[in-house]
Amino acid sequence: MATVKKAMKYVYSFGGGKADGNESMKNLLGGKGANLAEMAGNPKLKLPVPPGFTLTTEVCTYYYANKRTYPKVLDAQVKEALGKMEKITGKKFGDAKNPLLVSVRSGARKSMPGMMETVLNVGLNEKTIEGLIAQSGDARFAYDAYRRLIMMYADVVMEKAAGIEPKGKGIRKQLDEKLEAIKHKNKYASDTDLTVDDLKALVADYKKTIKKVLGVDFPDDPMKQLWGGMSAVFASWNGKRAIEYRRIEKIPDEWGTAVNVQAMVFGNMGADCCTGVAFTRNPGNGENMFYGEYLVNAQGEDVVAGIRTPAPINAYSKNAQSEQFDTLEKLMPVQYKELDAIQQRLEKHYKDMQDIEFTIEKGKLYMLQCRVGKRNGVAAVRMATEMYKSKMIDAKTAIMRVGPNQLVELLLPMLDPKEELLKPIIAKGLPAGPGGAKGRVVFTSEDAVAWAAKGEKVILVREETSPEDVDGMHKAQAILTTKGGMTSHAALVARGWGKCCIVGCGDIEIHTDSKIFKAKNGEVIKEGDWISLNGTKGLVYEGSMPLVDIDIEKNQSYKDLMKLVDQVKQIGVRANAETPEDANVAFKFGAEGIGLFRTEHMFYGEGSEEPLFQLRKMIVSKTEKERRAALNDLFKYVKKDVKNTLNVMKGHPVTIRLLDPPLHEFVPHDKEKLAHLSKELGISMSVLRRRVLALHENNPMLGHRGVRLGISYPEITEMQIRAIFEATAELTKQGKKALPEIMIPVTCTVNELYHQRKIVDQVYKEVCEKTDLKKIPYLFGTMIEIPRAALKAKEMAEAADFFSFGTNDLTQMSFGFSRDDIGGFLPNYLDQKILLDDPFQTIDQDGIGELIKFGTERGRITKPNLKVGICGEHGGDPESVKFCHRIGMNYVSCSPFRVPIARLAAAQAAIESPRKVTGKK
Ligand code: PEP
Ligand code: MG
Repeated sequence: MATVKKAMKYVYSFGGGKADGNESMKNLLGGKGANLAEMAGNPKLKLPVPPGFTLTTEVCTYYYANKRTYPKVLDAQVKEALGKMEKITGKKFGDAKNPLLVSVRSGARKSMPGMMETVLNVGLNEKTIEGLIAQSGDARFAYDAYRRLIMMYADVVMEKAAGIEPKGKGIRKQLDEKLEAIKHKNKYASDTDLTVDDLKALVADYKKTIKKVLGVDFPDDPMKQLWGGMSAVFASWNGKRAIEYRRIEKIPDEWGTAVNVQAMVFGNMGADCCTGVAFTRNPGNGENMFYGEYLVNAQGEDVVAGIRTPAPINAYSKNAQSEQFDTLEKLMPVQYKELDAIQQRLEKHYKDMQDIEFTIEKGKLYMLQCRVGKRNGVAAVRMATEMYKSKMIDAKTAIMRVGPNQLVELLLPMLDPKEELLKPIIAKGLPAGPGGAKGRVVFTSEDAVAWAAKGEKVILVREETSPEDVDGMHKAQAILTTKGGMTSHAALVARGWGKCCIVGCGDIEIHTDSKIFKAKNGEVIKEGDWISLNGTKGLVYEGSMPLVDIDIEKNQSYKDLMKLVDQVKQIGVRANAETPEDANVAFKFGAEGIGLFRTEHMFYGEGSEEPLFQLRKMIVSKTEKERRAALNDLFKYVKKDVKNTLNVMKGHPVTIRLLDPPLHEFVPHDKEKLAHLSKELGISMSVLRRRVLALHENNPMLGHRGVRLGISYPEITEMQIRAIFEATAELTKQGKKALPEIMIPVTCTVNELYHQRKIVDQVYKEVCEKTDLKKIPYLFGTMIEIPRAALKAKEMAEAADFFSFGTNDLTQMSFGFSRDDIGGFLPNYLDQKILLDDPFQTIDQDGIGELIKFGTERGRITKPNLKVGICGEHGGDPESVKFCHRIGMNYVSCSPFRVPIARLAAAQAAIESPRKVTGKK
């Protein structure tokens, strides 16, 4: 029997207490569509959601795969869904007496605030407007809605989506000018002064202008409007700003967006109407308080666009800018109570903080959207731990709730509080993004991008931001806007990125033409001047103020979270640290050892003059005798450094890498220093110059460095080993614990390790004898940073107790990309998607990752318990940490400030893919 193939379902309806979809269908319905279905259809929620339907993301994929056309069945499915809406609302799409009007909005899997298009009031035309007047009893309102539709539609559908290049100014600008002209002629102060007749005239004028500028009529056919609107949303998936946002947020292009068509409800039908945005908890600091803003007699977009300063929904949400407004709780107590009950229900249902949009139309509350709310790092940690403590979520969920990179925000520097006491505040705004920032003032997104490209630190100052500004906002250190509230575009985007941000700063006035802003206190700040922001409190200062680090130990939520993290993670986290100070910081951040102590760092920076001089003496030595004499002088510095760090780490392992970089890097070139050296060595300047010249290499990164130095000059290895053993022996004798791990860099064959191990064995014996100790604890191992070492790992493990992958060099040598010169070509690779990520930042898992995996597995054939770690920069990158966990490494090592991030990533990896063996050592 032949089976009838069921047509693919592209349209999902919701409303009237029912829904085809639910919250688990985000991939298909997008975040907005899935949540609308859940709110409307879940019997436990039963929320007042205006009915509508969602075109799936598969329609978007089809649209792009088929030259911007639709599946054949779509038309019928849309008609059917529209029929359901008509039944629920009792209105009819295109009907002159009782018209149904709809909104058309985007909704991707992951929210992309404001990046795609929206068209409202679809279905209005010369006939249906009569019906709207009858429904609302307000002709002015109806004509205003019509005017808005024509303006939005001409801009979004007829110009942008159709790809029409405007002759001269864009259509939106031209229509805007018509509006301004009427206002000017009649001396109106605001849009609300426009009369019905003004609006009627404007509608007619708009239509004429559209025909003249775009060459086509504004479509009065509601069905045509609907299809135009839906297509415009799909087209906006590939608009410039959406592409830019996806690049920054790493959202795959293939996902596509869904489109939501929903019955219009109006927050702008009079004084008993409003529209608002609210959060079930405060997204700025995580406090468990209902928080939100609303505007009376306004459309939804008005709150987000930041055009008017919104009012607080309750007393808790009041701030300096909105103090004078009535709260929703006071103005519409019944509806507020209903809203409050709904928000509690929603948070309980989703078990997470929700960001909700609502409209009250003539006293009736409607829910337009709910989604998991964006929050900054500070709030994320607080919410996760408090929800865990109140048993709303379990420990694993709490750990997964915080993005590892969000932790950076908790560690973010802030303005030095001592300086803040001394400096006058020039303006106050709303604290939309915490932390401190300083930078030079720029007034446009383009300038922010251009200045940042030149290495300038900038603060973007705007009246308000729009989705067009994302690139500049991203490049800026911080954002300062004069308008908008805590739910404005600037606040939303900054919060998502964890960027310092102040919004609604009415104390300053921007003069765009002269590129200055004037503060209330009379201060005038020009483009390029430095300002400093306290984003935690919303304070603006003139000048460049020092930033200080935060004392993380005072943050109880952080401590609670990290306690959970350490119970779950299965891989050790160490730090790369060279000084006792760094080691102390690492310890405070929870490092379980030091995974890389780069010996040569003692020759850099303050206080290094004397050891550096001794090192130079050693480098330019010609004979072993000369070299030994210099090494002897160097010995005490190396020993002291090693001993101090071992002491701070109290028996936790410290991986000490023997001298690595090419020697010529340390050779002086200025005359005075050379003269000092020649005197000390008792040789002439010309002899010294010749020796220096002889050290020159054409390709120093692949030259005389790492273990090669120890092979050419075994006395260099000998001195370092002696320093390590004596330091350890002295601490052991003082009853202290110390555990050095000697690490040989830049190896490619096991014979190098045998060579060095012989020296280690010899010195070990000598130091044991000298110190009368039977045993000095230590391990001997190697870095794996040359591809050949990874390929020969089975043999390398014969002579090594541990491996540490040096992924900086391993990436350099496997890609053949110079780690110091990659800036010249990487941007092109990323822009053209030849590479998706910078391989020096995150492990190239398919390529370099294979080498690491192979090396680990082969090493463990020889020694099943071989300790394996990583000490390249990747050790602090969350995705790389997860990779290291998955392939069975024992530990990762990263810079001290990234230790908490690595710990959290490690715990998340253990939750996502638990291992049988715990690798902590
Ligand atoms: C490495 O190569 O990954 C490494 C840690 O060593 P360095 O960065 O010092 O070359
Ligand atoms: Mg290296």
